[in-house]
Amino acid sequence: MQPHYQGLIRRYRDRLPVSAATPVISLNEGNTPLVELQNLPRRLGRSVRILCKFEGLNPTGSFKDRGMTMAVSKAVEAGARAIICASTGNTSAAAAAYAARAGISCFVLIPEGKIALGKLSQAMMHGATVIQIRGNFDDGMRLVQEAAKHLPLTLVNSINPFRLQGQKTIAFEVVEALGEAPDYHVLPVGNAGNISAHWIGYSEAAGLVSGSCNHCGGACPYLAPALCKRRPVLIGVQAAGAAPFLRGAMVDNPETVATAIRIGHPVSWDLAWAAKNESGGWFSEATDAEILAAQKLLAETEGIFCEPASAVSIAGLLKAFERGVIGDGSVIVCTLTGHGLKDPDTAISQSSAPFLVDATGSAIEALIKEHLPR
Ligand SMILES: *Cc1c(COP(=O)(O)O)cnc(C)c1O
Repeated sequence: MQPHYQGLIRRYRDRLPVSAATPVISLNEGNTPLVELQNLPRRLGRSVRILCKFEGLNPTGSFKDRGMTMAVSKAVEAGARAIICASTGNTSAAAAAYAARAGISCFVLIPEGKIALGKLSQAMMHGATVIQIRGNFDDGMRLVQEAAKHLPLTLVNSINPFRLQGQKTIAFEVVEALGEAPDYHVLPVGNAGNISAHWIGYSEAAGLVSGSCNHCGGACPYLAPALCKRRPVLIGVQAAGAAPFLRGAMVDNPETVATAIRIGHPVSWDLAWAAKNESGGWFSEATDAEILAAQKLLAETEGIFCEPASAVSIAGLLKAFERGVIGDGSVIVCTLTGHGLKDPDTAISQSSAPFLVDATGSAIEALIKEHLPR
């Protein structure tokens, strides 16, 4: 019998910093679908391939599980009995679930009132100690770093290097699925750990651990990166109200409907700049209106429901098309970081209300006739 898929640590053991002594704390995360869009390219009139890596189908509904399986396994290996994180929501959901799986305690700091309902319910359900702060994510990040310094806690935010190690596996899966790297990879950027992890993963998949390209004689990533098929051009997209990479400086009061990326002081600042530069890529931004429109467009035209922060990828791709920088025949992968069910309030508030009619056949029939395709 084929052993069934048992999570990314077991799958990529030889490429991760684990040993036989590392307890594997896993919920069988990773191995997410790469779904090729069928209707959107046609509707946009573009002859390109667009594939969505749907990270919303991880066990807790976001890519954070990839990092958390590593961070929690390594914490338990080191003897930790409690973990802590600051979170815009998904990190707390993942930390709480993996801590439950490991039988250790979990403390999460979240910004009061600025976390999507699904995510809050997860942290609470898994038994984490949930601490709302009168402040934003960046305040929380500062506080957990302080707390982890003098309390017996392991910090599991993406400043923990094991997080990025787990998250890099997304690139391995994309390269395996396509047989080579895509031309472009578009993803949202908040704390900037994930774009950094994507780049580590693509670089390792290409056999380039530290910068030179053996595909085209070593010069390519720096001279003509867009021509090098071994690694994609990275497009990191931010919400306009929380876009320190576009401003070139930290932002003090970030604001966006995409609460998962409502971050003004990204921890992986230098790594993300390096990833963007080495890939020959760029940062772009999308307004809240553009983000919500992209979320709705993807849901209605392709049947894929991602959360607002994930739709930022699609919004950024649409912008790149408008600017004419992506050529025909390109293969583009978009990371959809989290599931739409995480944030039902935002989804409902931008959709039309359900109809309400009497429970009679004639009322139903009249309504259906009004809405049948003509
Ligand atoms: C965490 C998160 C992001 C941002 O990832 P970073 O590594 O912080 O840049 C984007 N989307 C979702 C759904 C997230 O949970």
